[in-house]
Amino acid sequence: MTAPQSWEARAEEFSLYGFTDMPSVHERGTVVVTHGEGPYVVDVHGRRYLDANSGLWNMVAGFDHPGLIRAAQDQYARFPGYHAFFGRMSDQTVMLSEKLVQVSPFDTGRVFYTNSGSEANDTMVKILWFLHGAEGNPKRRKILTRWNAYHGVTAVSASMTGKPYNEVFGLPLPGFIHLTCPHFWREGREGETEEQFTARLAHELEDTIQREGADTIAGFFAEPVMGAGGVIPPSKGYFQAIEPILRRHGIPIISDEVICGFGRTGSTWGCETYGFTPDAIISSKNLTAGYFPMGAVILGPDLARRVQDAIERIEEFPHGFTASGHPVGCALALKAIDVVMNEGLAENVRRLAPRFEEGMKRLAGNPNIGEYRGVGFMWALEAVKDKPTKTPFDAHLSVSERIANTCTDLGLICRPLGQSIVLCPPFIITEAQMDEIFDKLERALKKVFAEVA
Ligand SMILES: *Cc1c(COP(=O)(O)O)cnc(C)c1O
Repeated sequence: MTAPQSWEARAEEFSLYGFTDMPSVHERGTVVVTHGEGPYVVDVHGRRYLDANSGLWNMVAGFDHPGLIRAAQDQYARFPGYHAFFGRMSDQTVMLSEKLVQVSPFDTGRVFYTNSGSEANDTMVKILWFLHGAEGNPKRRKILTRWNAYHGVTAVSASMTGKPYNEVFGLPLPGFIHLTCPHFWREGREGETEEQFTARLAHELEDTIQREGADTIAGFFAEPVMGAGGVIPPSKGYFQAIEPILRRHGIPIISDEVICGFGRTGSTWGCETYGFTPDAIISSKNLTAGYFPMGAVILGPDLARRVQDAIERIEEFPHGFTASGHPVGCALALKAIDVVMNEGLAENVRRLAPRFEEGMKRLAGNPNIGEYRGVGFMWALEAVKDKPTKTPFDAHLSVSERIANTCTDLGLICRPLGQSIVLCPPFIITEAQMDEIFDKLERALKKVFAEVA
């Protein structure tokens, strides 16, 4: 398909692709992008695509934000790199920690930096293992998460992720326990109400804790809305049902806000949208609006105090990455938080979310869309062969890939995920750009469903 020496051929010859369907790449070629304009990216052939996925959820301020670019340029000119070991750290790191605690749902807290969301989750697990060990509970090591959760790709965070594809790595590691995904439409039983479904999941949690022993469980991790699981908001009352159970057993609740954090759900944090109080928050992706690889663990007051006490006793927390608290990343995060919270981006999400939902609802009128779901600026449409019975299309038809590929041909990037199409546009999109998403997607849905029906 691809001409020798083309960008596409060179990409395929020398790059090892991650999370990519290789037959699709061989057939269609790689989209090699060179730059962006607002929410659009442009490829080597000058084709423009409206990126309805904000890159990978993270480019919330678009691809050419002048204030962010200037913040990076200024910091590179001032001090282009440093670490946070041995009692040294950059001024930007100090300022960002203050800022993160200030904008967190916590009155006080402490922040630890990583280069990614996976490393932040991995770090959080190590913090819990360290803490429980130091407090004389070395058996408290098991981690509770949910099926369909996405917490990353390192050996530990992939073990927390509840996806069958990790079997190829021989994961999960022992001691990572997955509970039922709180997706009522898919997991609810015949005749069960949403309230009964939530109650069943709460019982499952209680039973699991009894079976395993509360004194063997280190913590519970959850995304407020599952992102890479297919945009799955929790069932009604889910966090209100499970929070007291976890509290009663002294199990820390970690909110993985890598996607939800900083406005994606319409509030600053997903835990605010769903009304629960975590013990710690994991942040990454839009922390720097995608302009620098960075992750952060934000400990709330109780964990901050206990972990700090443990560190003081042992004298050192033997953990950290060379680029933890990188000054350019911290300067960018400070600017990104300001841009999102004070330059109208979070406001734009809140203002346009109902309009986005209207568009989703309209598209879900298609007889081959089984469910639309989401909140704020994160939505999914799930394709079905038969709506009343929720029967999926045969996997070999690759329906969602075909829809996404058709969209790409029309100049719209959206993501196929299972049998769903995921939309999570940058926070800067306008009404007209939203209509461009809906119009192109509608054309793609019609075309593909006509082919496969
Ligand atoms: C993307 C993601 C991660 C992993 O972040 P990386 O930076 O890709 O390592 C973790 N948790 C959630 C909820 C994510 O969406």
